[in-house]
Amino acid sequence: MSKEDLYTHTPTMQQYLRIKAEHPDMLLLYRMGDFYELFFDDAIKAARLLDITLTTRGQSAGEPIKMAGVPYHAVEQYLAKLVKLGESAAICEQIGDPAASKGPVERKVMRIITPGTLTDSALLDDSRDAPLLAINPGRNKFGLAWLNLASGALRVCEIASTEIAGEFDRLSPAEILLPSGFELASTMGRPCAAKTLAASSFETEVARRMLMRQFETATLDGFGCDDLPLAIGAAGALLGYARHTQQGSLPHVTGLTVERGGETILMDAATRRNLELTETLRGEPAPTLFSTLDATVTSGGRRFLRHAMHHPLRGRRVLVLRHDAVKTLMGSGFQPACAAVRALMRLLADIERISTRIALGSARPRDLAGLRDSLAILPQLAVLLEPLASPRLAEIRTALNCDAGLVDLLQRALRDQPAALLRDGSVFRDGFDADLDELRNIQNNCGTFLLALEARERERTAIANLKVEYNRVHGFYIEVSNANAAKVPDDYRRRQTLKNVERYITPELKAFEDKALSANERAAAREKFLYDQLLKTLQPRVPALLRVAAAIAELDMLAAFADNAERLNLSAPEFSDYDSIDIQAGRHIVVEQQVANFIANDVRLSRERQMLIITGPNMGGKSTLMRQTALIVLLAHIGSFVPANRALMGPIDRIFTRIGSADDLAGGRSTFMVEMTEAANILHNATEHSLVLVDEIGRGTSTFDGLSLAYAIARHLAEKKRCYTLFATHYFELTRLAAELKAVANVHLDAIEHKDRIVFLHRLEEGPASQSYGLEVAQLAGVPRSVVQMARRRLTELEQQAVAHQQQGDLFNSPAFAEPENEPHPVVAALAELDPNGLAPREAMEALYRLKELSRNP
Ligand code: ADP
Repeated sequence: MSKEDLYTHTPTMQQYLRIKAEHPDMLLLYRMGDFYELFFDDAIKAARLLDITLTTRGQSAGEPIKMAGVPYHAVEQYLAKLVKLGESAAICEQIGDPAASKGPVERKVMRIITPGTLTDSALLDDSRDAPLLAINPGRNKFGLAWLNLASGALRVCEIASTEIAGEFDRLSPAEILLPSGFELASTMGRPCAAKTLAASSFETEVARRMLMRQFETATLDGFGCDDLPLAIGAAGALLGYARHTQQGSLPHVTGLTVERGGETILMDAATRRNLELTETLRGEPAPTLFSTLDATVTSGGRRFLRHAMHHPLRGRRVLVLRHDAVKTLMGSGFQPACAAVRALMRLLADIERISTRIALGSARPRDLAGLRDSLAILPQLAVLLEPLASPRLAEIRTALNCDAGLVDLLQRALRDQPAALLRDGSVFRDGFDADLDELRNIQNNCGTFLLALEARERERTAIANLKVEYNRVHGFYIEVSNANAAKVPDDYRRRQTLKNVERYITPELKAFEDKALSANERAAAREKFLYDQLLKTLQPRVPALLRVAAAIAELDMLAAFADNAERLNLSAPEFSDYDSIDIQAGRHIVVEQQVANFIANDVRLSRERQMLIITGPNMGGKSTLMRQTALIVLLAHIGSFVPANRALMGPIDRIFTRIGSADDLAGGRSTFMVEMTEAANILHNATEHSLVLVDEIGRGTSTFDGLSLAYAIARHLAEKKRCYTLFATHYFELTRLAAELKAVANVHLDAIEHKDRIVFLHRLEEGPASQSYGLEVAQLAGVPRSVVQMARRRLTELEQQAVAHQQQGDLFNSPAFAEPENEPHPVVAALAELDPNGLAPREAMEALYRLKELSRNP
């Protein structure tokens, strides 16, 4: 909009448009009296999103102005709805005095709310983090930086550009920042709010300086991020944006952590989804691994557990310490330590989020009261932990040690139940501050003074029903009924005339009024001052408080693990340096809750037995078996006990899955394409320490295509990748791989026919399945009997044809499947026979010609 255009608007609209121009990509909520109003396109959008009425307001520049508004006291609930929808909002307040201003009252944006920068308890989901993620694309790499503003944790990493979908899924950001001109591929799956920043915001050098200023350090050396220029650029852009939304500095963001691949067991996006860690395949929160194991009692513990499930650790030192802590917490029958610890932790407030709000200066009085009460509980918690002989619990106990002076200060300062908002007064205790006490005294003595005055005036005027009273609009007054008007003394000044009474003020009452009203205002101002002081005193303690919060979160998770271990009959996993996964009587912890009689199974994988080809009917339990193996490995690596009688495992670096067949319609990929993309990823990235689950592959194309692909993929995994592989298939032909390759074994899940019905045994046996029971399962599923009968006839025909085919030649004996390595090319064979040392120059020349000829006509 040009300047001239602006001047055709009313002054208020000019002010609005000026402020709106500074926040073009978010909704502007503009305070007018008791409402926050939205105008023009914002109004249309808000009316649609919030289901509020769209109206018009007068005219500006000759056009009616579209308007929609929400009442100021309900704004939080509307904001919550907006951020859930991925929207951002700037909240513009009246800061000038309406009575004193000529023209529109002065206004200013006081708060910016975006989905990734929330810290307000009313807007945040307390069970999960909602980070802000900046993505800085390079040539083949991406620099990522993500900030959890509610805890102050800033992390960075660099990844290959192909890994972005997996990272996106792992971090599940609430909002992403991208440099302008760059767009993310549409296959990301998860919708989330995206903002575009100028590409210059991602500049590494600018970012470096900004980070040093933020962390108050002279270099970034101590953070180990020197070799990550893209990640630093991302962190700079991120910090700039976060500061802008908070209208100031972020004192609790005091450093950054570099995440490198080697620290966690990597899982790509498909794997996280397939294993249903925190979401079912349908996107629901239960039943999932998280919903089954979340026995935490604090919000911080819940977030810690959720994070842990997405980041299983490879470093065994911490894991062994955690397993030991879980065992200790379970204790012997005489020591119900865990229950007591958890009962205490239930009483704790969310120290992490409160600390952040202290750092940002937005903590409310009740936040501080919650902090005070929680900190006061910690010594009791420490006492409970003291007798528990576990090094990790001892570390946690030390971390709980928090400055006693802090608790004392909060206890002296705050009332037991302070008012919800500072402006309501009554936050500080009597006796904490002499000035405040004096001001409050004046207020409290008001009543006594007024009664005394009333008695005196009644006597002086001889008006028996004379009353001294107060109301908010008119202040203090002496009320006299009209019948007594004649008795009113001269020094009474009329204040208000009503139907039957007159209200007066006297110089004495006026003086008192001034003092009382100003005492009120001064008390409020004094409380505000004291509160700001208190926040300032607390701010330097925030890093220590965040450490306390982290210790509590981990303790909560460990106690939940102990509780689970008892409740769900779990056992401690064991680690070894030998390459193997040996699970005895393993169970699927989620499926187990849903079936009456879960059958436990053993799974043994080792260098000599790297791949299990799993056959058996549909519904036989193949997927369950494979997933439970991955979940047991994962649980062991977050420090939890596992659903098995015994689980011993060597080093694991990644978990891959190729399970299920969902069309990625949004991403424009067919089932087969999704399947092959996932397979390609596994074939490229699996190592001999990876656990790979393949559930059906090659099904979305013609039988021979699919079978050939499945064969080649299985063979490549077994021979070249040498990863631990569970390979479920209906292609019975694959079972012969076990005969061809030493490290491949057949196992199957069986079913039996019983009185015309099929019964699944769910027990894993050695060797290939004898039947696939496809028709029986179809019948079970309700396919009409006539169709099943027709299928049975057709099957018999096909089987007869297949026998005939086999006699002509076997699929796998065809030249296409002959191993090239087994039959070296004639040139290679001839070369092998040559002895260069024994050749004269001339013979060497002849040999060369011969080889050349052989290469043309082998
Ligand atoms: P498949 O992959 O062979 O088609 P699933 O693993 O999907 O079979 O299992 C089908 C159903 O069988 C599961 O939903 C579960 O109800 C039941 N099931 C699977 N494994 C077991 C088991 N070990 N014990 C009891 N029931 C099981």
